[in-house]
Amino acid sequence: MIIVLKPKVTRSQVEAVIREVRKLGYKPHPIIGVERTVVAAIGDERAHHTLETLTSMPGVDQVMPVQRRYKLVSRESRLGGTKGSLITVNGHVFGGPKFQVIAGPCSVESEKQILETARAVQKAGATFLRGGAFKPRTSPYEFQGLKEEGLRLLARAREETGLGMVTEVLSEGDVGLVAEYADILQIGARNAQNFALLIAAAQTGKPILLKRGMNMKIEEWFLSAEYILSHGNPNVILCERGIRTFETLTRNTLDLGAVALAKMETHLPVIVDPSQGAGRTDLVGALCKASPAVGADGLLVEVHPNPKEALSDGAQQMTLQQFSRMMTELKPFIRAANRR
Ligand code: PEP
Ligand code: MN
Repeated sequence: MIIVLKPKVTRSQVEAVIREVRKLGYKPHPIIGVERTVVAAIGDERAHHTLETLTSMPGVDQVMPVQRRYKLVSRESRLGGTKGSLITVNGHVFGGPKFQVIAGPCSVESEKQILETARAVQKAGATFLRGGAFKPRTSPYEFQGLKEEGLRLLARAREETGLGMVTEVLSEGDVGLVAEYADILQIGARNAQNFALLIAAAQTGKPILLKRGMNMKIEEWFLSAEYILSHGNPNVILCERGIRTFETLTRNTLDLGAVALAKMETHLPVIVDPSQGAGRTDLVGALCKASPAVGADGLLVEVHPNPKEALSDGAQQMTLQQFSRMMTELKPFIRAANRR
């Protein structure tokens, strides 16, 4: 339920509403807007008392049942839905007029590889460096990442270039360690419904880049984000990375419709990962250009100095030159979408 308060509500009226919501078994989450305050009442509506009686309280304008199960994530929880959330990391804003580009190798492999990539992607206009230190691999015999050494190398590259750092956290046990280093914690497709991990990551207070699982419905993706918000962390960036379909010519099917829908339905910034999305470098550039048109706030692109020798995802990583060219070609598309 969403309780919409009247425009000139007093503080004691707000507090009375919060008390009543709590008394009826819901967790109150007040959202203070410029014009209006709303109180999101979190709890299973089917299992709790209805809150409609709150309409009679002074200060309450409307009590709206929420059909959507993702209350905190939904745009309507932001009242009217005109403004999306802005998430500022390292001085860069996701969800604002500036289109953000996160780039870097699939896996951190060596100091030389990550530094060379960081310098090149920064020069080309990226604002964040990515790189997996803990890698989710389908086979246990494949490269599993450099782990803490990978985090150290990313931190060194950040120090030198000033780029923000995005890296995946694979398990609850690693959350503390990864959060010590990363500016943004990535939750990967395979863990997007690992609810214990979502909660542990939320509790670090770090911004979270939440991939969509390869077999997740859009609503399930939003509900995973809801786990993070409902555990006190509002800084979630959604990332569409393709879903598994019957198609075999691409690794995944990049669902750009889901990006447009996520922008309409939620107030969170949304970015696109065309690298995992297509699984082939020759499609990545076109999908990067399509992203601003569907309302994306940024991109996550895999870039490697020598993709042929990459220890993971070689077929989908751009070379430094390809990335730089793509960034130049991307500019008119960003401008056409009224972004910078
Ligand atoms: C990655 O970003 O390298 C990755 C493993 O992504 P995903 O979780 O989307 O497969
Ligand atoms: Mn990858």
